[in-house]
Amino acid sequence: MDRIETIRQDVSLKDYNTFGIEARAKYFISVRTEEEVYRLFDPGSMIRGERLLILGGGSNILFTDDFDGLVVKMDLKGIQTMQDQADYAEIKVSAGENWDGLVQHCVQRHLGGLENLSLIPGTVGAAPVQNIGAYGAEIRDVLIEVNCWDRWSSQVVVLPAEDCQLGYRNSIFKTSAKDRYVILSITLRLSKQAVFNIGYSSLELELEHIGVRELSLEVIRDAVISVRRRKLPDPARAGNAGSFFRNPEVSGTIYDDLKLAFPGLVGYPQPDGSCKLAAGWLIEHCGWKGYRQGDAGVHPEQALVLVNYGNATGQEILQLATQIRQSVKKRFGVELEAEVNIL
Ligand SMILES: Cc1cc2nc3c(=O)[nH]c(=O)nc-3n(C[C@H](O)[C@H](O)[C@H](O)COP(=O)(O)OP(=O)(O)OC[C@H]3O[C@@H](n4cnc5c(N)ncnc54)[C@H](O)[C@@H]3O)c2cc1C
Repeated sequence: MDRIETIRQDVSLKDYNTFGIEARAKYFISVRTEEEVYRLFDPGSMIRGERLLILGGGSNILFTDDFDGLVVKMDLKGIQTMQDQADYAEIKVSAGENWDGLVQHCVQRHLGGLENLSLIPGTVGAAPVQNIGAYGAEIRDVLIEVNCWDRWSSQVVVLPAEDCQLGYRNSIFKTSAKDRYVILSITLRLSKQAVFNIGYSSLELELEHIGVRELSLEVIRDAVISVRRRKLPDPARAGNAGSFFRNPEVSGTIYDDLKLAFPGLVGYPQPDGSCKLAAGWLIEHCGWKGYRQGDAGVHPEQALVLVNYGNATGQEILQLATQIRQSVKKRFGVELEAEVNIL
């Protein structure tokens, strides 16, 4: 069987995670077609009983140990136009497509809706898992449905976006249906009309700074890319997985009390009266920004990003994350939760 031949053993994952952590997979396979996925996950398949990890670009994962099971790298490619209407188009995109490659493709075709999400690392299939978001946009704004292999019923299912419970860096793929679905492709509805989302303050400032006369999808993409390049470390230079923690949500009353005690506190009021606190601010005000022990550290410009400066282990990064969580809890009484998937 060809798939048995393509399963490799004892594979280094260092090049498959943007933290650049050395960990080894007991088994590793790259899947390129939906048929390969069906065969691999068939109830009679040889992989039955193995622990499984579905891997995209590894940009939201921290390996703290070797992976004692099968890593399935999603390399399915393809972008198909499903509908082409006067004011919108619907496209179906395979899970292994590079996310930013898709954004660029859409901007070039004058399809709007993804431009604010430019330069987010990773694959298309992982995008709904944490409902990726940046600069005032999220994938849920344009997501129509998610096509998956359901490991529980061993069949292909189509989940409408409404059923995916897409919330702030969250979805059923991380919660109630964790490990249930292998996302094969997603369908997006993108606008052909000139509707631009430039309300997010740092994006607005960047556009002002550039002195833009006429807005376009390209202009917004370029502005987002230049802000991101300035603010976020490039994983090719210093291993990281973007924001390590989610911004914690607290009640309006807790926010008011904290704001009295710490007037500089940064928070974003939510429509339901709660408030999302800037985790980076909390971490920075516990003195962690720029901290480094060995090769594990906190980025000097962005306290929310933990960094592997070379040969840090996943355990060292995790220990640092634990120390940060404890100090934030002690100083502000606020619990930080990891955004990164810790394995
Ligand atoms: C420098 C940097 C900046 C970042 N900025 C942002 C940002 O602005 N906004 C944001 O939201 N995120 C950001 N991230 C996080 C990350 O890019 C996203 O979460 C991205 O969607 C992860 O994609 P991936 O393919 O690398 O997923 P992986 O890290 O490979 O996997 C993440 C999770 O999704 C699961 N998964 C992956 N593919 C599939 C699939 N096909 N089916 C089912 N489950 C799957 C995995 O099992 C894992 O649980 C950033 C990361 C970095 C390194």
